[in-house]
Amino acid sequence: MPDAGGTADDPTRREGAKRYEGAELAVSYEVGLCLHAAECVRGLPAVFDVERRPWITPDGAPAAEVAEVIERCPSGALQYHGPGHAERARRPTRLALHEDGVLHARGDLVLGTPEGTRRETRVMLCACGHTAHSPFCDHSGSRCKAHD
Ligand code: SF4
Repeated sequence: MPDAGGTADDPTRREGAKRYEGAELAVSYEVGLCLHAAECVRGLPAVFDVERRPWITPDGAPAAEVAEVIERCPSGALQYHGPGHAERARRPTRLALHEDGVLHARGDLVLGTPEGTRRETRVMLCACGHTAHSPFCDHSGSRCKAHD
């Protein structure tokens, strides 16, 4: 199975992700993974502003703060990379089935997907089998409250 992208190198360069270059940090956004939890826009509105184009300005806050807020993104839609800035997978790996029916995972993750193997540190996985974007949750399931 091909490798669809890894966290060992630069996760902001994955195919399908849009990349935003800053002086110290590059940030990427993969729309197909975003479940609109809004951790980003709540956490750092100077960097993440959906009313602005481009909506991500990596230099809008110190790089360490940008990295910290990106690591709050539960879906892995947001990634960062730069000299001296690389996300470390949490240990031990944690899985949690949330009330909304989505399986949240954080850790050193290797996922098999139709496009190939992906190394991830944060993902939201389909736990009901209704997703059209397996193995990721797309809020298709009736238990997914965020879909309402
Ligand atoms: S925190 Fe992640 S999942 Fe939530 S809105 Fe931002 S990019 Fe999307």
